Amino acid sequence: MGYTTQMDAARKGIVTEELKAVAAEEKIDVERLAGLVAKGQAVIPVNKNHSCVKPCGIGSALKTKINVNLGTSRDCLDLDVEMEKVMSAVEMGAEAIMDLSSFGDTQAFRRRLTAECPAVIGTVPIYDAVVYYNKPLKAITSREWLDVFKMHAEDGVDFMTIHCGINRNTADRFRACKRHTNIVSRGGSIIFAWMMLTGNENPFFEYYDEILDICREYDVTLSLGDACRPGSIEDAGDISQIEELVTLGELTMRAWEKDVQVMIEGPGHMPLNQVKANMEIEKTICKGAPFYVLGPLVTDVAPGYDHITAAIGGAIAATYGASFLCYVTPAEHLRLPTVDDVREGIIASKIAAHAADLAKGNADAWDWDYRMSEARRNLDWEKQFELAIDGGVKARKYRGESTPEHEDTCTMCGKMCAVRNINKILRGEDVDIMD
Ligand code: SF4
Repeated sequence: MGYTTQMDAARKGIVTEELKAVAAEEKIDVERLAGLVAKGQAVIPVNKNHSCVKPCGIGSALKTKINVNLGTSRDCLDLDVEMEKVMSAVEMGAEAIMDLSSFGDTQAFRRRLTAECPAVIGTVPIYDAVVYYNKPLKAITSREWLDVFKMHAEDGVDFMTIHCGINRNTADRFRACKRHTNIVSRGGSIIFAWMMLTGNENPFFEYYDEILDICREYDVTLSLGDACRPGSIEDAGDISQIEELVTLGELTMRAWEKDVQVMIEGPGHMPLNQVKANMEIEKTICKGAPFYVLGPLVTDVAPGYDHITAAIGGAIAATYGASFLCYVTPAEHLRLPTVDDVREGIIASKIAAHAADLAKGNADAWDWDYRMSEARRNLDWEKQFELAIDGGVKARKYRGESTPEHEDTCTMCGKMCAVRNINKILRGEDVDIMD
């Protein structure tokens, strides 16, 4: 092939099939996209062993993408139900699926994903190592953590989250500077606990060069995890978060030296007024590497509605530089999401992504809204359903449940329908509000 990773190809001036496909999808010039990939400002996560993947570009100059987290847990172990959620997420337009399985035969599910699922697949090997070795945490060796990373790469995973920013230095800062909600990242908490129990350096930090060699071999994109993401509004932008971000910035440069594609994971819980500045800090420290945000949730007080708190934060984050939104479901903080929770989470996240694309002036996004408002002006209900972000499921249900007296109105205003009456007046017709 003459290249190792998509970044390597872009730097060598090789136009890969994946690059061409993403440029066509995004309606941008191939050379421009190649320039972004070469500089690390866009990534195309495609593992060489994930042959059915539909290539997708992630970067702030591209359309905002969304990720859906799925997978089994000790309490919810039905692989078929998880696969149903995966396929429903893909149908609904999720560009990426993160398999966060933490119980059962995780490799079988992962391999099924990379054999059947066209979405970009991500994993967190830290979770899986604990399941795979099935022994006390402190008995896992540094080498074993790396072996699981390599196994995921061989299985065709396109991007992997590793919490390598919480090295000894960051851990010391975290311990010295008290936080309101400590560490809320699952992978981050596991590796921090392992470091404390064994006294060892974080293996993903200590052996980062080996990780990079594996990434280069399979073209795995690294998603540098934020163990110290704020888990509460109180902790947003604190010393631990920024200390870790600085380390992630340094690790980004090292990855780029080996042509490895990188994304940076971000907050977390964060008040609205800090979101823009946080995006700018990340862009500066990590030299424009795509930012993958987990929310941000703009308040702590809405359990059951965190798809909304995350969509508010996600829309602002993506407007100011985030490229990739991790969906949040109404079940966040409460339970493993059901199929319906997944659906609600995806729609909320898609609304956030699209709102940001409008704010960024994306022509496709503007055209979609133009066509919807045209259908509204024409009181064309079928067209409105067709263009709705969820495929019209909810809009059709609502209209079906509340039938107006006149088809060219809805039950909100009836014959006082402003749209209908102005259309009539502009056509030179009479209006019959009180007839
Ligand atoms: S009846 Fe009122 S709410 Fe319904 S379409 Fe007309 S203007 Fe809009």
